Amino acid sequence: MSRDVLQQAITDKKMICPKCKKPVQQFDNFVDLVASVWDGAGDSGTEFAGSKVTLICGNDGCAWKERTEYWDSFIQDED
Ligand SMILES: [Zn+2]
Repeated sequence: MSRDVLQQAITDKKMICPKCKKPVQQFDNFVDLVASVWDGAGDSGTEFAGSKVTLICGNDGCAWKERTEYWDSFIQDED
């Protein structure tokens, strides 16, 4: 998952606010989380890649806002 996916989901109105069920309007403070660990012995590597973002509903009358690493769970794919 990347910033492009997030941006696209918001543009396509697929990022849904769990409170008012309307499309989330904006996001803020996107950061990529990438951790690499190499022990120096040449055979050990651990990587975790993800991203964290603050989702902001932005719809009238809704103050929902959440900082999450699991923002993809708010994306609703239409069938
Ligand atoms: Zn909302």
